[in-house]
Amino acid sequence: MSTAKTLFQKIADREIPAEFIHEDDLCFAIRDINPQAPTHLLVIPKRLIPRVAESSSDDVDVLGHLVVTSGKIARDLGLANGFRLVINNGKQAGETVPHLHVHLLAGRPMDWPPG
Ligand code: AMP
Repeated sequence: MSTAKTLFQKIADREIPAEFIHEDDLCFAIRDINPQAPTHLLVIPKRLIPRVAESSSDDVDVLGHLVVTSGKIARDLGLANGFRLVINNGKQAGETVPHLHVHLLAGRPMDWPPG
């Protein structure tokens, strides 16, 4: 397995700049550089899990933490009108960074089904 850091590991280590919204022992949240909604954050585990399909029972706590933390961030930001959490898994689903992350999108109406 490659030992090269992922983009998000470099951001976590402050080697690449980003606007941090939240950080704790298990995860951090930053603003997406190419926002798809007025609020577009990425909630990212510090431990590298490439994607959902490669997660295991060892990851249950951290994956739960990402969702709970997303909810806390949404409350703190006052996103009372609604928000959407998205995890892209694989190229066809739009995954571009092989380090699992939750997109938190808010601030505009969201279509269903998603594109
Ligand atoms: P995905 O396509 O689901 O893998 O999501 C990757 C996300 O990372 C995209 O929404 C990108 O806009 C975002 N992104 C890429 N580079 C950066 C960066 N340097 N800082 C913040 N977000 C980034």
